[in-house]
Amino acid sequence: MSHSYRGRFAPSPTGPLHFGSLVCALASYLDAKKHKGTWLIRIEDVDQTRCKPLFTEQIIATLHSYLLFSDEEILTQYSRSPIYESFLSELKDKNVLFPCNCTRQQLSQFQGLHPKPCDSTQQKPHSWRLEASHAIYQIEDPIQGTLIFKGDLKNNSTVLKRKDDFFSYQLAVVVDDHLQEITHLVRGADLIETTAQQLHLYHLLNWTPPHITHIPLITNSKGDKISKQNHAKAVKNGDLATLIRALHYLGIDISSATTISDALEDAIEKWNPAILKGIRHLTLEEQDSDF
Ligand code: GLU
Repeated sequence: MSHSYRGRFAPSPTGPLHFGSLVCALASYLDAKKHKGTWLIRIEDVDQTRCKPLFTEQIIATLHSYLLFSDEEILTQYSRSPIYESFLSELKDKNVLFPCNCTRQQLSQFQGLHPKPCDSTQQKPHSWRLEASHAIYQIEDPIQGTLIFKGDLKNNSTVLKRKDDFFSYQLAVVVDDHLQEITHLVRGADLIETTAQQLHLYHLLNWTPPHITHIPLITNSKGDKISKQNHAKAVKNGDLATLIRALHYLGIDISSATTISDALEDAIEKWNPAILKGIRHLTLEEQDSDF
């Protein structure tokens, strides 16, 4: 690839930015800046049933309040459907997709996964699923170590385009990371389970996948991800104390910064993913239970 380092933070605007996403945003930003690279913000709003323009605005305002600015224009996925459609067609031509109108209820006995064969017809509204595969993928993750995805794709024919015509995260994320020439992904360990599907799409489209780092997922004391589903609160905008606590979960302790800009500069210097080596989960500390 022509660019030496291009990273991104790609939130889905299904709610305002919460503490866990601030930690992810910082990790991708610090990794990019440590490598003197380019860092982008991309809004992943393909799922128009859950994403709202108001959340997009709030997320961007929060990132900006922490001086996290995209080095290029912020890309929004919603307007890019024709692009995803063209890659969907390319995959159809390769005979690796099949139409499916199974209902959630029909799939519930298979834990939501899709077994083959599918007797759907193309008549009714249907989704497009990627054929299951026996392919095995392996990556070297600077934090999680060697990750081998063996059998991950065997029973799982992932949806690339939904019945309601929205494209799936899996297709959109791969297409945009490729078209934006992203070289490094730094994201939460909750997304490890999507990595095999994405590596498979890179393979089918003959593209080189980016380097992928999964940072520890922050969970509450019950072990649940801090997420919109668990009613995580919006982080305060531009709050130095919040920033310092977020950096703490990335193994960075900032003692003397008095401004956000100083704290970020210090954090770029101190960022070292090896400090987090092997950590998949971190529990929110008592003093942060408010996040
Ligand atoms: N949009 C995805 C999310 O908010 C993250 C995409 C990624 O980093 O690969 O969960």
